[in-house]
Amino acid sequence: MPAFDMVVVGCGGGPDETNLSAYLFKPYDSCWEDGIIALEAGSGQGTLRHILQETPALFNSDRDQGPYSVAKIYSYVRCFLITHAHLDHVNSLVISAGSLSGPRKQVYATRQTLLGLEGIFNGRLWPNLASWKDDDDDDDDENKLLYKDLPLDLPSEAYHTIFPSVSVRTFLLNHGLDESKAVYQSSAFFIRHDTFKKEFLFFGDVEPDSIAKKAQNKQVWKEAALKIPEVLSTIFIECSWEKGRPTDLLFGHLSPEHLVDELESLAKEVEAVNSRKAYTSGSDGSPQRKKQKRNTVDTGARGALNGVRVYIIHCKDVMDGTQNPRARIVDEVKKLIEPKGLGLQIFAAEQGMRIIL
Ligand SMILES: [Zn+2]
Ligand SMILES: [Zn+2]
Repeated sequence: MPAFDMVVVGCGGGPDETNLSAYLFKPYDSCWEDGIIALEAGSGQGTLRHILQETPALFNSDRDQGPYSVAKIYSYVRCFLITHAHLDHVNSLVISAGSLSGPRKQVYATRQTLLGLEGIFNGRLWPNLASWKDDDDDDDDENKLLYKDLPLDLPSEAYHTIFPSVSVRTFLLNHGLDESKAVYQSSAFFIRHDTFKKEFLFFGDVEPDSIAKKAQNKQVWKEAALKIPEVLSTIFIECSWEKGRPTDLLFGHLSPEHLVDELESLAKEVEAVNSRKAYTSGSDGSPQRKKQKRNTVDTGARGALNGVRVYIIHCKDVMDGTQNPRARIVDEVKKLIEPKGLGLQIFAAEQGMRIIL
């Protein structure tokens, strides 16, 4: 049985405001009306309206009997899960904050991201439509969004529950520099179905470890490697730029060369985990077996990512009337990664797609 059901409302990296990062998902074993998690909130209701005009039955299934209106779908949203406060990831959350119906909605993110949002809901840029207060605080306005910070210092097995049977483990990512030349932080989420013990990994905007002052992706790959492929087999990660983009023009994002580099680093971590398992669980324990395993690591982790699906997201649009770069970017990634034989499959996330995870 799959663990999650997802609809891609938007997956571009700007400037097309009708296709910005926004994913609606739910546990596979529940209905949309039982509650939806909005992962990123770049595009929103206006975009979904256009998608549903094209594909009215997008949310339908044996369990889910539509047709659903845009307002209904967004009224089912129980919480938002946001990787960082850049506008292309929070635009619709801000615009719709005063007009969402349904139960009170929580906004889960790191404290730094929530402080960024607070700078938008400051009464000048936008009315203050979000609050830090608890549900049981009598003074609090029930119509406001509720900030909920995600803890970062959890022990490795501890996940934070954001929804019935869904919990999240958060890792910080580097996403370029802010005005004061300090690292601007984004986040990656391991999102788990607690009953099925299945997860997917979702990256916010991220820069390569190879150019970062302090590498942070490696920690995410180490954690992912422990779970691949049984527990974790789907990864969403950005590739904003086309091949050949100079390093000083990455602005905190990945290009195909760097994405492939990162996926190789994941493959090496997986191979290291497999080698450790072979050492500790080999019943014969023979030196021969150990030697073979060590050789596998040296040959570049071929097949280490068998069964892993990588969805490329956040490709930057070009609005000059030429073909959108998304197809080219995905093609470039495939060409670079295939000769390495890691075993993974590369897909393009597309607006309006329904993905079973
Ligand atoms: Zn972005
Ligand atoms: Zn960003």
